[in-house]
Amino acid sequence: MLNEKCEECGIGRCQATVVPFLSSMGARMLVFPNAPAAKCDMCGHVAYDPRFLLALQQMFTQLQAESQAARRRHQRISDRPSAWTPARRSG
Ligand SMILES: [Zn+2]
Repeated sequence: MLNEKCEECGIGRCQATVVPFLSSMGARMLVFPNAPAAKCDMCGHVAYDPRFLLALQQMFTQLQAESQAARRRHQRISDRPSAWTPARRSG
């Protein structure tokens, strides 16, 4: 992607840069002040690093799975006994 011809104007070259990335996830707002990207030196077109976008997507999926699991755990916790003693003997 870097130092390749710009897909927007077809003339400029993409240079590595960092740009702020904002994304909303439900009620939460994610802010990355220094997201890796490539910027065209002719038209200024910005394309985010595909690896960054992929990592972001994986993080989203993980966060959603974790919040769902946490909700399920919270519902089930009243069914469990509050304390347990390990049946272990020393010797
Ligand atoms: Zn361009």
